[in-house]
Amino acid sequence: MSAKTAPRRAPDVLAKYAGQTVVAVGAHPDDLELGLGGTLKRLSDAGARVVMAVVSIPSDRESRIKEANAAARILGGETHFLTPDRTMRVEDLKNHELVGMMDGLVKQYEPAALFTHSLANLHKDHKLVHEACMSSQRLRYFDLFCYPPTSCHAINVQFNAHAYIDISPVIDAKMRAIRMHSTQFARRGLKTDHYREASSRVGQIVGVPYAESLEIVRMRLN
Ligand SMILES: [Zn+2]
Repeated sequence: MSAKTAPRRAPDVLAKYAGQTVVAVGAHPDDLELGLGGTLKRLSDAGARVVMAVVSIPSDRESRIKEANAAARILGGETHFLTPDRTMRVEDLKNHELVGMMDGLVKQYEPAALFTHSLANLHKDHKLVHEACMSSQRLRYFDLFCYPPTSCHAINVQFNAHAYIDISPVIDAKMRAIRMHSTQFARRGLKTDHYREASSRVGQIVGVPYAESLEIVRMRLN
């Protein structure tokens, strides 16, 4: 009788970023938690330094900075506010200023991976951030991914998921991080349960309880 060997566990793809920096860029506070909060927590748990860059703060600046910092702590990330002293939208920036800011992030952090909004968005600010990050690809190599639209309404846009991240072990952290943004949810009487349900629906596609999805713009397989 032949001895059975235990099945070997597949190496964790996220471990590729251990000891390296990854930068996630959101147009506004809460976009990152909604779009890929679980993935960011999995990355920080896997040993990556996770920088959560927020381009603009359209309202309640002081509260929203506090909320984003609290959410980042839950996800094991650190915030970087690009315009902390101005109440504004991304569209208020000139294009060259926005591209300069994204280039600055790439030069400062030399990320192994960058995560940005998908072009599949109705929100102009989100599309502008996507385009500026695409432009930063010319500076140096980094893996580049786009996360899904963060709208709380179902919208008909062509987001093409290429990769799925199992966030089952961290779904509660993701939901806690989202709830930190009380100016956007609790204080407006809005519930956040549908974000858990959305992660569950994505999980069903790949056979796990909860997942998030990403578009892959470029990814180096070493
Ligand atoms: Zn946004």
